[in-house]
Amino acid sequence: MTTTSPTIGVLALQGDVREHRSALEAAGARTIPVRRERELDEVDGIVLPGGESTTVSRLLRVFDLLEPLRTRLEAGLPAYGSCAGMILLASRVLDTTDDAEHLDALDIVVRRNAFGRQVDSFETDLPVTGLDDGPVRAVFIRAPWVEEVGSGVEVLATVPDGPAAGRVVAVRQGAVIATSFHPEITGDHRVHRLFVETVRSATRRPGGIPQRERVESTLRPVG
Ligand code: GLN
Repeated sequence: MTTTSPTIGVLALQGDVREHRSALEAAGARTIPVRRERELDEVDGIVLPGGESTTVSRLLRVFDLLEPLRTRLEAGLPAYGSCAGMILLASRVLDTTDDAEHLDALDIVVRRNAFGRQVDSFETDLPVTGLDDGPVRAVFIRAPWVEEVGSGVEVLATVPDGPAAGRVVAVRQGAVIATSFHPEITGDHRVHRLFVETVRSATRRPGGIPQRERVESTLRPVG
């Protein structure tokens, strides 16, 4: 592991694994697919791609990754989740199945498939806090949105217009970032670069990655 080229794992159970890996590599990271606990041990950060969160949750259990991943996230592992990845990182999920697991790494309440049938997939130009050089082309595919955030969570983007105007679709809490949309399929690597930078600064800290701070949850409604 070096601080200049961190090793970032991409959870490889479902979704755009190849696209995330190439975006991360373009942003200066080394990447490995993660399907086993020992692969998880090698990474400085993890990306959870989109897909079907209930299926990924089941596969995490089948691959004996659920508890190891929870433990590493609890210990401060930087993470980026896109779409279903956002759902998996959340502390609470609305409109999911009773047996779906989530990882409780982001103090947010998300609603699955939130945009509804009329607009269940769409694209828009989205200004994102921390990303210069104009808005991101954001592609939403049966995406979730964030309905409540804890006090440690920064809102990075809200839908600018249309029927879902004001809805929260990108957040950050320390070294954990999540977007409702899929930046891996647009060729714009700025979200991945932001994550690679986050992983770099986490691994550079003296004493390593700090334990994730646990505060009494004070969720407030957003969007
Ligand atoms: N609707 C999916 C879910 O609930 C997420 C869709 C996606 O990741 N593109 O998990």
